[in-house]
Amino acid sequence: MSGQLAVIGLGPGDARYLTPEAGAALAAAHALYGYGPYLDRVPAREGQTRHASDNREERGRAAAALRHAASGSRIAVVSGGDPGVFAMASAVCEEIERGPESWRALDVTIVPGITAMLAVAARIGAPLGHDFCALSLSDNLKPWDLVERRLDAAAGAGFVIALYNPVSRARPWQLTAAIERLRRHLPETTPVVIGRAVGRADEKIDVVTLDRASDSPADMATLVIVGSRETRLIERSGRTPLVYTPRAAAGVSA
Ligand code: SAH
Repeated sequence: MSGQLAVIGLGPGDARYLTPEAGAALAAAHALYGYGPYLDRVPAREGQTRHASDNREERGRAAAALRHAASGSRIAVVSGGDPGVFAMASAVCEEIERGPESWRALDVTIVPGITAMLAVAARIGAPLGHDFCALSLSDNLKPWDLVERRLDAAAGAGFVIALYNPVSRARPWQLTAAIERLRRHLPETTPVVIGRAVGRADEKIDVVTLDRASDSPADMATLVIVGSRETRLIERSGRTPLVYTPRAAAGVSA
């Protein structure tokens, strides 16, 4: 039997966000690999083993899963959101590229999931309705001056910007530094969406303006969307506002 490896996106929160394809791939696996809290979201199944590892051990986890798959098993590696967005699918590809030739013969599938920025955007309107980009603020895998250059380029070019990994226990200052950088390019009134634990019981969505965004509490389960000059806010009495970016660029009639 040739080995199989599926890299599966669980979506941002509870089982409502798991696609039927991801559910079927999880059910078919002999063994699951992943960060502990993500594995905890998957109901236990008889005969299926679990291999939990720390969040920072992506390469080791990918290599272990590939070795296991190469022994002829059906293996699933799980990620929150989408596995291709700042997550395990790249780590698996990197290990295949540098690993033994036999890993290239494995049946590898990537099963997409709803990524956090799409889930947050949907809660508040349509902030990603025109051109946008996504950046991770984690500087574990890149230097901070590269983050700053990318923020400058993205804001300068008029993109709406989704910020993943805005802070961590080891790096509490990142979001504040990024917001201060963006204030060089954007008006103080630019809408900023702060989405926490979207799709989970403790979900919280706030909209603030750019000049107040540094004061907003953010943690590792928070995703921030910073609007462009064209992003608009519609106040509604008794309801949360709608934030959207029009379909047409400024000066173009739709
Ligand atoms: N693969 C994941 C992202 C992994 S990076 C995805 O596609 O969503 C981890 C970051 O994702 C977190 O620091 C946070 O910025 C964001 N994130 C993940 N789940 C989230 C959720 N339910 N609500 C808000 N942000 C979330």
